[in-house]
Amino acid sequence: MIRNLIGPDWRPPADGAASLPVFNPATGEVIEQVPLSGERDVDAAVAAATSAYSTWSRTPLMERVRLMFRYKAVLEEHFEDLASIITLHHGKTLDESRGEVRRGIEVVDFACGAPTLLQGRTLRDVSGGVDQDLYRYPVGVCAGIPPFNFPVMIPLWMFPLAVVSGNTFVLKPSERTPLGGQRLAELFLEAGFPEGVLNVVHGAREAVDALLRHPKVAAISFVGSAPVARHVYETAAASGKRVQALGGAKNHIVIMPDADPELAVPAILNSAFGNAGERCLAGSVAVAVGRAADTLLDQLSDAAAKMVVGPGDEPGVQVGPLIRAEHRDRVAGYIEKGVAEGAELVVDGRREMSRPGFFLGPTVLDRVTAGMTVGHEEIFGPVLSVARAATLDEAIGQANQMALGNMATIFTQSGRSAREFRDRVEAGMTGINVPIAQPFAFFPFSGWKGSFYGDLHIHGTDGIDFFTRKKVVVTRW
Ligand code: NAD
Repeated sequence: MIRNLIGPDWRPPADGAASLPVFNPATGEVIEQVPLSGERDVDAAVAAATSAYSTWSRTPLMERVRLMFRYKAVLEEHFEDLASIITLHHGKTLDESRGEVRRGIEVVDFACGAPTLLQGRTLRDVSGGVDQDLYRYPVGVCAGIPPFNFPVMIPLWMFPLAVVSGNTFVLKPSERTPLGGQRLAELFLEAGFPEGVLNVVHGAREAVDALLRHPKVAAISFVGSAPVARHVYETAAASGKRVQALGGAKNHIVIMPDADPELAVPAILNSAFGNAGERCLAGSVAVAVGRAADTLLDQLSDAAAKMVVGPGDEPGVQVGPLIRAEHRDRVAGYIEKGVAEGAELVVDGRREMSRPGFFLGPTVLDRVTAGMTVGHEEIFGPVLSVARAATLDEAIGQANQMALGNMATIFTQSGRSAREFRDRVEAGMTGINVPIAQPFAFFPFSGWKGSFYGDLHIHGTDGIDFFTRKKVVVTRW
């Protein structure tokens, strides 16, 4: 059974806590048990973080940064180990896991820039003999609630920037992929951070709700599905916390007739089927404009049908399993529903469901409309819906009809179309000729509309703003 990290100790949860199995999704085997911690465990973690806060928040910045540099070195040393842990209990391919670890470590790189990032501002002589200075202070105990699909990267979006800013932290990893957060915490201690600066409580809804309502927790970072993002935002805000809550996605890829197929086809496959479609930046609906469908559809479906499905640690595999049997069945249910509602099934990945593990292969549905369930609900699996539009205007209209606005991307050789799309599409992350519009650590990451609740996005300088409160000092001598 995995343990919680409370201050310096790896502790089992309070008596009576239930547990859940952690699987290897490529085989279906149970590899661990994760405890479902409750209020008492959350209280203990918050108490440890509160007690560490008084010293940590006054620890000189350069000492905090030295530890962050050491953490970076330790993470690099364990790069392959972290990638293997991700593949083992999430299922994505080892290359995808390596990409995830790299993107995560980049937030630590960014956090090492704290001496510049945490600077305030000054203005002298604002009135006769009066100066004004702005300082940044930490906010207190912060908590992070990541989803299952990036067990290393998403926790790293949260706690490095929080702790380098002088806060202490309680991480509640996903109960489906708890081993990433667990390993990150072990390495955090190995880097020499003092006890209580990072605490880990494993669990699900009960642990989350205890964090959202805890009077000693000042800020909540959440990444997960849209309904839970809304619940987290409303509950934590009602108890006076600052919140950044990133939700689900229904990302559109617009393909113009002038798109270069050599660039667009592999990019669309990567966007839709990378990480087995379990990505908040996954392209879900490809909107082919004008005659684009005629040139692209055959190439796309041929290539999708040939993608190699299998365990993520086998060489040559391009699409790993889904996270759980129930999730795979839910995705298969969407395919069935799509067909029942009038979509044409061009590639059927359900043939992969007979293998052991939780597999479902790349699937392509054509002639999908926004009114169909598959046209507007997040599927979160390797299913690409192809829709048609007569003009760019119509394609942008289809994307903007969605309640969610995480990412949108366009493939075109026309600067004018690209610019039009950039300015009018309602998505917080917008791409031009790229499969995935992922902001790097030094830019803010987040969607718009139902994909995000809050105002300060995650990481980038928004992250620093989120984890600090500003004080303006007015001085006359
Ligand atoms: P999820 O919402 O089921 O779970 C996310 C976290 O919330 C987990 O830690 C879980 O324990 C907790 N949780 C789940 N149900 C809860 C409830 N009812 N009350 C309180 N806490 C609860 O999401 P998931 O299935 O782990 O992740 C997939 C989802 O995350 C997808 O919708 C995906 O689009 C989204 N996602 C979004 C982003 C983004 O940047 N916007 C990034 C990655 C994933």
